[in-house]
Amino acid sequence: MSGVTKAQTIEEKQYLVRFNADTESHLHVLDHDTCLSKCPDKICTIFCPAEVYKWEDIRMHVGYEGCHECGSCRIGCPHENIKWVYPKGGHGIVFRLG
Ligand code: SF4
Ligand code: SF4
Repeated sequence: MSGVTKAQTIEEKQYLVRFNADTESHLHVLDHDTCLSKCPDKICTIFCPAEVYKWEDIRMHVGYEGCHECGSCRIGCPHENIKWVYPKGGHGIVFRLG
């Protein structure tokens, strides 16, 4: 046995978490027109590790159920266009290890 640990793929890492999604989103894009007209790179679709944000023609779809609660979108949106709060108690991501 080599003792070298193989790097995990994102899919393997995702297997280590599960979600207890709330029925209401804890994430809100405040103004979809800002995304459309002022944010050509739609960088939330890049920096979010959970691929929560998906651009759909003229508005941003927010798949809040898969949010990892890393907080990046609180500071990553260049237009402060994302309202982010923690999910209500008992909801959100649950880690299987630790
Ligand atoms: S980074 Fe902000 S402004 Fe840009 S697309 Fe995402 S939510 Fe909209
Ligand atoms: S908190 Fe992190 S995982 Fe959740 S939507 Fe924002 S960037 Fe994505």
